[in-house]
Amino acid sequence: MDSNSFTGLLNNAAILLALGVIYDALGLHAVTNRTKRKLLSGLLVGTLGIAVMHTPWEMTPGVFFDTRWILISLCGLFFGFIPTLIAVAMTVSLRIYQGGAGAMVGSLVIILPALIGLAWRYGSKRFNQPLDWRRLYLFGFVIQLTVLACLLLMPESMRFNIIAAVGPPIIIIFPVGTMLLGLVLRRQRDRRKAERELKENRYLLDRERGLLRGLVDALPDLISFKDIQGRYLGCNQAFEHYIGRPESYLVGKTDFEITGAVNVNPTELQDHELAATDKARCYEEWVTYPDGRKVLHDTMKTTFHGEDGTTFGLVGVSRDITERKNAEEQIRNLAFYDPLTQLPNRRLLMDRLQMMIATSIRNNCYGAVLFIDLDHFKVLNDTQGHDMGDQLLIAVAARLRDCLREEDTVARLGGDEFVAVIGLLTSNQTNAIATAEEVAEKIRHALCEPYILNSELESGPVQVKDYHSTPSIGISLFRADSNNKNEILKQADMAMYQSKAAGRNAIHFFDPVMQAALEESVALQADLREAIVNQELELYYQVQVEERHGIRGAEVLLRWHHPTRGLVPPMDFIPLAEDSGLIIPIGHWVLETACRQLKIWENHRSKKHWHISVNVSARQFRQPNFVKEVNDIIVSTNINPALLKLELTESLILDDVAGSIDKMRELNEQGICFSMDDFGTGHSSLSNLKRLPLEQLKIDQSFVRDITTDPDDAAIVQVIISLSRSLKLDVIAEGVETEEQRQFLYDNGCRQYQGYLFGRPLSLEQFEEMVESKIFLPEASVSG
Ligand code: C2E
Ligand code: MG
Ligand code: MG
Repeated sequence: MDSNSFTGLLNNAAILLALGVIYDALGLHAVTNRTKRKLLSGLLVGTLGIAVMHTPWEMTPGVFFDTRWILISLCGLFFGFIPTLIAVAMTVSLRIYQGGAGAMVGSLVIILPALIGLAWRYGSKRFNQPLDWRRLYLFGFVIQLTVLACLLLMPESMRFNIIAAVGPPIIIIFPVGTMLLGLVLRRQRDRRKAERELKENRYLLDRERGLLRGLVDALPDLISFKDIQGRYLGCNQAFEHYIGRPESYLVGKTDFEITGAVNVNPTELQDHELAATDKARCYEEWVTYPDGRKVLHDTMKTTFHGEDGTTFGLVGVSRDITERKNAEEQIRNLAFYDPLTQLPNRRLLMDRLQMMIATSIRNNCYGAVLFIDLDHFKVLNDTQGHDMGDQLLIAVAARLRDCLREEDTVARLGGDEFVAVIGLLTSNQTNAIATAEEVAEKIRHALCEPYILNSELESGPVQVKDYHSTPSIGISLFRADSNNKNEILKQADMAMYQSKAAGRNAIHFFDPVMQAALEESVALQADLREAIVNQELELYYQVQVEERHGIRGAEVLLRWHHPTRGLVPPMDFIPLAEDSGLIIPIGHWVLETACRQLKIWENHRSKKHWHISVNVSARQFRQPNFVKEVNDIIVSTNINPALLKLELTESLILDDVAGSIDKMRELNEQGICFSMDDFGTGHSSLSNLKRLPLEQLKIDQSFVRDITTDPDDAAIVQVIISLSRSLKLDVIAEGVETEEQRQFLYDNGCRQYQGYLFGRPLSLEQFEEMVESKIFLPEASVSG
């Protein structure tokens, strides 16, 4: 090869090399529009191809030579179909335009390498063959062989001359050149691909980071990251708000540097430990926000790692659990404390009592339960309103707390009932009783002090009232051998009732005799429930007589034939029935049975004018539907209501005078009469008596009993009789046992009697038998 050829080859090589440089310099790889990029690439290759074709060198005289097929084949291999098509079109056009004998071959050496380049490209992609130097060399060799084969198409005259001239360089140099240029292009392509991937990765990373940031900032929890030296790497907005500083201020600093503390923060030490041990740590802590708010944090700290397991640092997540804690506290309070007084409620009391019993067993010491009930609290509540009642309860709770030691418990059971449990610290019973009484006395004294209660009137100003209250206190001592907590509380409750019974404002210790009585009454109450169903109740009839007319009727008195106890007197079970509400069905049964009997007598010539007196208990009378109940019975038994007499007591009426009058009037309008039972034992005022639609006063038997011996009783009876006369009421004396008593009553103007003198309460059968056989109040016995 002469120097001219060498220069030409170098020129060609430079232009070929320029392909990669210009492609990069023009930034064609960055053109995002694919078609545009392909068009531009094609134009570039085509232009370079034209440049190559314009810098040929003279191989042998008359044979001009260039490297167009290297360029075009590599274009096919690296740029693909469209750029190659454009480049081929441009260069072939030029070659045809140049004309001459080699025009056809000149075009062919463009088209065939281009096709081979494209096919090679397809093949290496299809079979996933990387373009290493060996394959590139082979590619170059195949191209050169193809070109040489094309040269065989030259006119015979020149064919062998040309092949002889260009053959050696084509076979020796051009494959190497193709390989080198291919390596350059491949390298550039690889680099561009790597750049593209890097950019894409950076974009993805950026997107992920943005997503993470948005997520972390959107969380209300406080999130912060630190490296293993404890320097902040970042935090979320909630954390910025908490610390009162922007993230940029924190990054790179330790807690120690931020707080400017003198000593190393304990959390910092814990963080170091956490980083070293790689264990997660959870804890709760109270923190203060920059605005002064105190907040309870539930914090979780853990380490975070790289893919290879390297510990990068710590992540801390803190949650504000103040509200949740408050709610939990509230729930706990509601479960164990009385919301009004903030004292422990029954549940907590029982728990503490259990503990106190355990302590007393351990120390062999006495403890005491004090049951405290406010006297007449209901009156205050009903007359002055619940607000005043609440104020009193709150004040009482405060006083009780003041009277007791820290280790004692005072609880509110509900209503006006309080219980104090105290440890007495002594194993001597006498001392224990003395101490318990001392404490109870102290409490009684404190609760008797006047209270200042405010009552807000609807229109007027706030009124301050001095209110006086007294407590009834029951005490039950307990010790190692004590019964269970419920029993102890019940005993204190019973002792409290003793205080009430003793006139209130008093202190009583639990008395076992009282307990036995109570237990019996509880058992009796249980049996009473069965009494109606088992038909154990019976009505006894006690005759009521009048001087002139003889038998006027009878009072029905309830009897209970108990299966084991025998006949139980009404005074033993009527109060129980009242307490339990059983008096309602029992009273109904009594009334109905009495009315049925009235109906039977109504059909009997000699008995049809007899009336029946029925005792009505307070609870029964207070029933809102009492009037209807009586009317219904009258209708269903179809009796003459005028023959039914209801016996009421003074205390029953005095409970609610106006209400009682209304009910009595309504029944009176139906024809029913009323008798005031046990008259003289209550506190009826004259004005009340005048307003009541009564027919009769019934002198209590306690006055009749000693009427002939006790001048006081005699005087009372005389007053009652004259009172009945002035009020124009009937009067009947009950408990008339002797003729002397009857005579006295008769002499003083009482003409109706009931008592053993005339007949005891008897079963219906005996009663009827008795009235048949006996003549009541024979004219002869009537004196005066
Ligand atoms: P009460 O209504 O004052 O009944 C009179 C009580 O005096 C009766 O006692 C009667 O047996 C008794 N008695 C009558 N005459 C004499 C006498 O000459 N000497 C003595 N020592 N006692 C006499 P009883 O039957 O034990 O009834 C007691 C109380 O039980 C009654 O007092 C009444 O308050 C109540 N009671 C009786 N039955 C009923 C009833 O069906 N319903 C209600 N709610 N209470 C009833
Ligand atoms: Mg009676
Ligand atoms: Mg009576």
